[in-house]
Amino acid sequence: MLKDNLLEVENNIKKSCEKSGRDINEVCLIAVSKTKPNDMLMEVYNCNIREFGENYVQEMVDKVDSLPKDINWHMIGHLQRNKVKYVVGRACMIHSVDSVRLAEAINTEAEKKDIVQDILVEVNVAEEENKFGFKLEEVEDFVKQISKLKNIRVRGLMTSAPYVLNPEKNRTYFRQLKQLCVDINRKNIDNINMDVLSMGMTNDYCVAVEEGATHIRVGTAIFGARDYSNRQ
Ligand SMILES: *Cc1c(COP(=O)(O)O)cnc(C)c1O
Repeated sequence: MLKDNLLEVENNIKKSCEKSGRDINEVCLIAVSKTKPNDMLMEVYNCNIREFGENYVQEMVDKVDSLPKDINWHMIGHLQRNKVKYVVGRACMIHSVDSVRLAEAINTEAEKKDIVQDILVEVNVAEEENKFGFKLEEVEDFVKQISKLKNIRVRGLMTSAPYVLNPEKNRTYFRQLKQLCVDINRKNIDNINMDVLSMGMTNDYCVAVEEGATHIRVGTAIFGARDYSNRQ
């Protein structure tokens, strides 16, 4: 059953790529598995998915420790500095970096573990009050401030667009994020060369792919609706 959901998502990605003249290999599908049990993740794993996204640190740690080692885990949820130590090294990429202090904490932990941690800068493109992330015009300054940190690598930008009934309404936000990425690369900031755009969720991933997403984060369309009633 999850296999059918996955096939539908993959087919939609293919169509969006055809529509916009993109190569399907440029788009990485991250299966967002928060709140979902391991057997459901394994069902998707057995359909050849190796990229999974999680929001909550403890849940991610439990899953990393009990599921196959060839899974690439993406931390996509808001991250507190006191939990950085559990995520650095476990996550292939931290999508939700939204402050200098968090970037510094990740850098310090990565240095301790002698690794370079890939990160994305979270951008609140629509300037929604209930969301984390920088405003578009703050991003360049932020990137400059963290560009000298040796144990993180800024791979690109991430956004969660507003929840809308008509995904076309988010096209402008995806386009703005892509443009910001191009603009920042043109500035030739030392150590900064961004090639990742993490944008698009169940509701709007087709539009995001058309606008240049390299990573889409899809939960509900693969795993079904989430039930939060068991969370403390
Ligand atoms: C939960 C979540 C997703 C997946 O959302 P769906 O609408 O279920 O596809 C993607 N990105 C982030 C940051 C999330 O928290």
